[in-house]
This record gives sequence, C-alpha cells and structure tokens, in this order.
Amino acid sequence: MRKRVALLGATGSIGASTTDVLLRHPDRFEPVALSAHRDVAGLVARCRALRPRRAAIADIALLDALAQGLRDAGLATEALAGPAALVALAAADDVDCVVAAIVGAAGLESTLAAARAGKQVLLANKEAIVMAGPLLAAALATGGGTLLPLDSEHNAVFQCLPPGYARDPGRHGIERIVLTASGGPFRGWTAAALAGVTPEQACAHPNWRMGRKISVDCATLMNKGLEVIEAHGLFGLAPERIEVVVHPQSVIHSLVAYRDGSTLAELGNPDMRTAIAAALAWPERIAAGVPALDLIATRRLDFEAVDTDTFRCLGLAYAALRAGGAAPTILNAANEVAVEAFLNGSLRFPGIAAVVERTLAAVSGPAPTELEAVLDADRRARAQALQLIAQS
Ligand code: NAD
Ligand code: MG
Repeated sequence: MRKRVALLGATGSIGASTTDVLLRHPDRFEPVALSAHRDVAGLVARCRALRPRRAAIADIALLDALAQGLRDAGLATEALAGPAALVALAAADDVDCVVAAIVGAAGLESTLAAARAGKQVLLANKEAIVMAGPLLAAALATGGGTLLPLDSEHNAVFQCLPPGYARDPGRHGIERIVLTASGGPFRGWTAAALAGVTPEQACAHPNWRMGRKISVDCATLMNKGLEVIEAHGLFGLAPERIEVVVHPQSVIHSLVAYRDGSTLAELGNPDMRTAIAAALAWPERIAAGVPALDLIATRRLDFEAVDTDTFRCLGLAYAALRAGGAAPTILNAANEVAVEAFLNGSLRFPGIAAVVERTLAAVSGPAPTELEAVLDADRRARAQALQLIAQS
C-alpha cells in the first residue's frame, strides 16, 4: 500500500523539495493533504501537481479564494481553512505520515496533533521541538507516533546512529555528536561590520536556498543554536556532548563520535531532497534527484571553530538549554519576534541577539508540561521582545 502523506507548509522551501521527491515516486506515496499560510495561488499550484484529497489555508479569510482557485483548476480537492483545519489534516485517519514543514511556532499544534494521533512525523519544523520538546515526546509516547528528523544535520545523525538507539540510548557507546554549521553568509565578519547588514544580505545563504526566517537564523547562528536544542530533544544527549563545528562546504551534514574512536559522518551535496527522501522511505533508499557526491570535484573539506563572541546567539541557545524550564520556549519566541523585526526594517542585525538575551533575562517560567503553559510562555516572551524592540 502507498504511504499516505500530509504535507504541512507545502508552499515553502521544504514544501517544494518534498513535492519534488513525492512526484518522483507516485508508486510509493499518495499525497492526501496539503497546507499553506496565505499563498492561495501557490497552494493551488501544489494541488495541481500532487492532486491531494484536501487542502487547507491557515488564514480563514481565504477559504473562498482557495475553493474558487481549486474549482478553476478543475480539481476535486476539498478546501478547508483555519488553524483547526491544519490540526485536523495532521490527525486525519487517512494519513500515515505528516511532513511538518511549517515555519515557527505556528507549526506546533499540528505537529503535536500528528504525534498524538500516532502518525509518522517527519520534522522540519524545529521550532516545535525547541519550544515544546517534552510535550512532543509525551505526545509521541501516548499516541504511538514516531519521529524522523528532516533537518539535514539531525537526519545525518539519525543515519549514523545504530538501529535501536532510540529504545536504549545509553547502550551504544556514543561519546558526542557534532553538528556542522556552514557559518552563514557572514562567516569571518567582525561585529562592527555586522551592524549595518541588510535582510537581503542575511538571506543570501552560500549553500542552501531556504525561507527567509531560517536564512536569518543561519546568518546569526541561532539556527545552529535551535539545532543544538533540537538534537538534545531528539537524541537525549547532554548539552556538553553536542558540539558545533563550522564547515563552510556543507558536505558533511553531521557526525557521531563513538567511545572506540570511530566517528561516523553522512556526506552529500547540500540539497534537502536527500534528507527528505531518506526519511520518507526509511529504512529503504529511493532516488531523490540529487547528483552523487563527487569527491574529486569537492577537493577539500574545511573546518573551523565558531566565533561565539561575534555570533552570540549560539551561546544564548546553549544557555537556554542548560537553564531548562521555559527558557528554550522563551528563546524561540524572542528570536521569532526579533527576526521578523529585522526583516521588516525595525531592528538592526545585532539587535536580534540583544533582544533574545534581554528577553531571557526578563521572562522565565517552569518547564511547560501542557500546551497552554507553552503558549503562555511564548506569549509573555513575545510581548517582552516587542517592548524591547519598540524601546530600541
Ligand atoms: P518557508 O518560509 O519557505 O515556508 C514556510 C511554510 O510554512 C510555507 O508553506 C508557509 O505557507 C507556512 N506557514 C508560514 N506561516 C504559517 C502560519 N502562521 N500558519 C500556517 N502555515 C504557515 O520555510 P522553510 O525554509 O521551508 O522552512 C520550514 C521549516 O523547516 C522551518 O522550521 C525551518 O527551520 C525548517 N528547515 C528548513 C530547511 C530548508 O532548507 N528550507 C532546512 C532545515 C529545516
Ligand atoms: Mg539544519
């Protein structure tokens, strides 16, 4: 039987790469549901390609436009709208696998719903696990869902871990994991030079084409900070056993170091379709449209330490993970608000780290064990961050 897939965040960068992989394997995958935020034309275009049963637009005011667009395209796809429709798509009986590719906290509830409903969750939406790691773990445990990482680093680590790791993490002699970071578009820059950078410069990533939020996160290195917290949530290692090393070519996607001195790595061209295909078909391997890695043409792999004095967001993320409680939720919320402000021109680039740091100093709370508590910490952090930006 074909695996029935719901793709949430279908119009984004991960959505596009997932669509490409799904279209290569119509014999294996049946796309049953798609979602998007406000881009009706983009969602209809995806529906034309994938012919799902249902499509949902998060902005409820756009329901009629979506229904009309689907009719005009001659599609029988049912139109739905609103955040509750996204949750329903993720938990529907006729879905086996949910690709969680919404950006930011907006993806949390549908990701939790998929986990609770016992789905296979392919997680790109790292903000969900950062803001509510324990809740997501509990939802997977009660619902019988499984989670496979789509983030390239975590997908690489997953591929380098022994089978059965998740059932018994202590047994396998793992010393540490090493997440690679490209260093982003500002690698080697000084703090002074960063003061005046524009959103366009920040979004011009050297190796990957991505949405604007994650592109800015790569430029500040907050993306790597979120990934450290994500790795802790996925693989259960203590913060000091999760390392970050800059590797500008993005060919080694991450590594696992074992007690006996072996270090395993996953290598490939920087193309998200590899991780997506690996997760969609796991443990089988399917074509992803990605050319084989040519080591002779690659010629060299470089490594350097992170400049944590200039790129302070990575240290802030480690600190939030060590502090525990609601700190990761607060870090994520403050960062989302600060990145948005930077993108719309109301905050300068160095202000992102400053807003996150000052929000973490001003807002706190116990580790949230309920969704309401997560949303409350998220709201308080957003309000504080907005106030700091207004004063800056
Ligand atoms: P993107 O901005 O290109 O796409 C985001 C998607 O989420 C779009 O489909 C959009 O319609 C939807 N969306 C946005 N706001 C929404 C809302 N409020 N409600 C419902 N839907 C909403 O982002 P992306 O680059 O595809 O990244 C998606 C997620 O995957 C992020 O969490 C990112 O960190 C993660 N990720 C991306 C990449 C990459 O290569 N792009 C790699 C690793 C992880
Ligand atoms: Mg990544």
